Amino acid sequence: MTQIAVLPGDGIGPEVTAAAVRVLDAAHPGLTFVEAPIGANAIVSHGEPMPAETVRICSESAAILFGAVGGPGHDDLEPHLRPEAAILGLRKHFNLYANVRPARVFPGMESRSPLKAELVRGMDLVFVRELTGGLYFGEKTLTHEHGHEVARDVLIYQDDEIERAVRFAFALAHMRRKHLTSVDKNNVLMSSQLWRRVVIDVAQDYPDVTLEHMLVDNAAMQLVRDPRAFDVIVTENMFGDILSDEAAMITGTIGTASSAALCGAPDANGFGLYEPISGTAPDIAGKKLANPIGAILSAAMLARYSLGDEAAAAAIERAVAETLVAGPRTRDLDRDGGASTDAVADAILARISVVAA
Ligand code: NAD
Repeated sequence: MTQIAVLPGDGIGPEVTAAAVRVLDAAHPGLTFVEAPIGANAIVSHGEPMPAETVRICSESAAILFGAVGGPGHDDLEPHLRPEAAILGLRKHFNLYANVRPARVFPGMESRSPLKAELVRGMDLVFVRELTGGLYFGEKTLTHEHGHEVARDVLIYQDDEIERAVRFAFALAHMRRKHLTSVDKNNVLMSSQLWRRVVIDVAQDYPDVTLEHMLVDNAAMQLVRDPRAFDVIVTENMFGDILSDEAAMITGTIGTASSAALCGAPDANGFGLYEPISGTAPDIAGKKLANPIGAILSAAMLARYSLGDEAAAAAIERAVAETLVAGPRTRDLDRDGGASTDAVADAILARISVVAA
């Protein structure tokens, strides 16, 4: 039996993950779900944010369904002991270098975007963000020099780290509309010059994919000017972190944004970690107000990329799209009303059951 590690985490994590498990179980019956602590609740139960037992359960599983970690009350802890260290630790431990973040405007949701509806109608792009290198993982120092405090964060990339993420992105573009935009800061950064050279080399193997290079500042502008011009965007860790949040917000709410972190080709059906891109939302945690759709669409990505079950993935995405139009919707999408997390999950589940029956 295929085992899925379920790591609900903190805040709204358990609420949205429970919904995602129910939907995935309906769309792809027969999975075994094993739950494990992570983040702040693991600090309480095990004294550390990423217990060895949790890592063991993950390594015995086909994939990880992750909620979110963090929250107030941990600011005084050293960085490696904070709840958020768990997600960085899992990405590094399982070498999950390719972060896939779709940003799609579902039909009927155009008016939720902060941009004009006609600019976002049909928007459907995917970020591939390099996830285990760059500025976030380079050496960090704080020194005293000439009577001043001096902080350094090293932005370091090796050619093979770039190549594997870029290959992933080309393969994904090949499976989609065959248009890849590589984002860098080639005019200023040495790491971006290496990035661009590697991209140009890898492009030789994908002659049917149209490649475009774009500077990161221009990419930030083009995303709000014409988001429909993009298909797949590949970029380094920090640029991807920032731009993919911008793209998620253009779709109207962070509550519907899903993601995958993978370590093999998009069609390899390998191990991966799947999570909504939002955090633990302490302001609404425990109130059953959280939108479960980001977690549910992450479960659809799990079905597609780790289980190789395209039919289940498509059934979940169809059920979500129909529910977004017909309702119920949570408060982030429906200012006048606002259904509970469970009511939205029930409506999606009912549409999956009809398909499965
Ligand atoms: P957040 O994403 O948790 O919340 C930002 C805003 O979006 C809040 O107003 C929240 O209510 C809303 N929101 C988020 N998810 C929603 C959902 N599913 N439905 C409806 N509304 C939703 O970001 P934050 O407040 O900056 O961070 C809170 C905590 O989460 C911090 O401790 C942060 O470190 C952590 N965090 C964890 C992860 C992760 O586990 N991968 C990612 C980001 C932030």
